[in-house]
Amino acid sequence: MREKRKQAENLSRNLIATERQRIRKGLENTIGMVVTIQGHLACLSCEQVKMDLNMLQCGHNVCTDCMNEHSNTAHHRSLIRCEICSQESNVGHVGKSIPHSKICDSFIDVKKELAMLALSDSAL
Ligand SMILES: [Zn+2]
Ligand SMILES: [Zn+2]
Repeated sequence: MREKRKQAENLSRNLIATERQRIRKGLENTIGMVVTIQGHLACLSCEQVKMDLNMLQCGHNVCTDCMNEHSNTAHHRSLIRCEICSQESNVGHVGKSIPHSKICDSFIDVKKELAMLALSDSAL
């Protein structure tokens, strides 16, 4: 009787360990995907995902802080050069991309959620 109980305990311990491993692997994969998405969304200069990203004429993104730092935004005809593709954009034609800022907003939420999951996972 005692032997059976021990077997059952071992079995459930193994199941829990396998399940934890599966969750951890899933979490690692998801973090990898998030890092990839972050690379596509981020400001080309400071590499941060921010709500105030502006789309250059080439389609790459730059945040307002970096745009102000690298160009004279007071003059609408001044140019800003993309650090990725070297194309120049007229500051007056650089604008916020609404879908993009919504994606960034959701992305920031996903990252927060994932950080919480990763924290609770390491506490297991
Ligand atoms: Zn930036
Ligand atoms: Zn570009």
